[in-house]
Amino acid sequence: MMMRYFSCITLLAALAACRTTQPVTTPSPTASFSHNGAAWAALWQQRAGEYRALCFQAYKLARLQLDAALRDPSSKPRAIVTDIDETVLDNSAYTAMQSGFHNGYTKETWADWTSRADADSVPGARAFLQYAASRGVAVFYITNRVETERKATLQNLDRWSFPFADDEHLILRKDVSSKETRRMEVAKTHNIIMLLGDNLGDFAAVFDERSADDRQRIVDSLHGAFGERFIVTPNAMYGDWESALRAYNNKLTQAQKDSVFKAGLRDYPKEKVPKKLVM
Ligand SMILES: [Mg+2]
Repeated sequence: MMMRYFSCITLLAALAACRTTQPVTTPSPTASFSHNGAAWAALWQQRAGEYRALCFQAYKLARLQLDAALRDPSSKPRAIVTDIDETVLDNSAYTAMQSGFHNGYTKETWADWTSRADADSVPGARAFLQYAASRGVAVFYITNRVETERKATLQNLDRWSFPFADDEHLILRKDVSSKETRRMEVAKTHNIIMLLGDNLGDFAAVFDERSADDRQRIVDSLHGAFGERFIVTPNAMYGDWESALRAYNNKLTQAQKDSVFKAGLRDYPKEKVPKKLVM
């Protein structure tokens, strides 16, 4: 596919050269749409059948594990704890909008987006959670959205007929971003049989504020939980995976972030690339 892109770029450059006597300038790689990481990830989420297939796969697995968990006795009412963003609601339109302005996340623009209650639903999420509800399992939405977003969040969930979309089951962020204390509150009254999320912090405190290397190591050590008690949905647009790479530092400039992200990317030595292939 990349070869086709290179061919197209070459052809466009040749056509432009025919129409003008001006020198042809090679487009900067950073000006390419496909090099705009956030926009590219949002495009994948919105248009790739593969994204949808991964979501259906996750929720099909969740259903199988739910059925298995229901066979075990439980002394307390059973519950599923789920994240909201990129787990049951799809905010790719927000990322697309922000990347169009060459901006990332800001509190103000995010608040404007969520106030619209216009996020799409993640494929398979509603059907799975409705099934869980039909089997007598409660659903708690533990999210890092904040109190001012409560009303519109419930509207958005209700718009897609998600079960338990009410004040009691929507647990917003109060002070800390870690979800551990909120999970523990739910566990006082319910047997949490499954957790759903797109971010490792949605599953266990052991992932909170860990380095990128640690996160990978811990996932490896807990690999048996994934696809069983932990069900993960895909999100290439944002998450602690990228916060970890910049050491959770929110004060970096965009140039500093770019530098850190580039440093985190593995490639292979440039001297091994034939010169004729270097653009
Ligand atoms: Mg999320």
